[in-house]
Amino acid sequence: MQRLGLFGGSFNPVHLGHLLLAQSAAEELALERVFFVPTAQSPFKQGIVQAAAKDRLRWLNLALAGRSHWQVDAREIQRGGVSYTVDTLRAYRQEYPQAALFYIIGADHVPFLPEWRAAAELAQLAEFLVVPRPGEVSAPLPPPFRGRLLKGIPLGVSSSLVRARLEQGLTVDLLVPSAVAESLKQDWPRPVI
Ligand code: ATP
Repeated sequence: MQRLGLFGGSFNPVHLGHLLLAQSAAEELALERVFFVPTAQSPFKQGIVQAAAKDRLRWLNLALAGRSHWQVDAREIQRGGVSYTVDTLRAYRQEYPQAALFYIIGADHVPFLPEWRAAAELAQLAEFLVVPRPGEVSAPLPPPFRGRLLKGIPLGVSSSLVRARLEQGLTVDLLVPSAVAESLKQDWPRPVI
């Protein structure tokens, strides 16, 4: 049975914490492929200014270059509007009816899972993999969500930290992949969506 990981986020911009999270999940669960699915607009980040979708996509593509078992899936951006994970997971279930689907999240999202759209259905569509995040308590998954807490390789980097440093003119060289750091030097700040 195919074992597929899905990893959603704003990726505004992608950073090494994201990549380590995907690597830990892939290693610990023997995932064959991981799909990175950038949101058009997160329901929890409405009203927050973010970089244009085409820029977030470009940074993600740069970050994943050469990693053939990881790929960017731009379906939420193509769909537009507010992005709901349940829509994406339904589509994956249809496209990969035989696969085991694993949805990867950072520990900070666990308390909010019951507020995600169609939570009960979502909980049936995939097993949830929770990766520890420095500064966040790793709470157990709220029923009916099922899954497991991974060991991970905790790294206290966030997109907010990267953005704050860019805005202060500080380097982000060791916080994001080098190709992304190069691109951010040219592209930041960009117009909002
Ligand atoms: P922001 O700081 O803008 O809120 P973020 O760094 O949390 O962004 P997102 O793209 O919103 O990044 O997160 C996508 C997913 O990655 C979420 O499930 C989040 O919990 C997880 N994540 C992000 N950074 C880390 C990290 N350093 N360790 C563990 N999980 C992380």
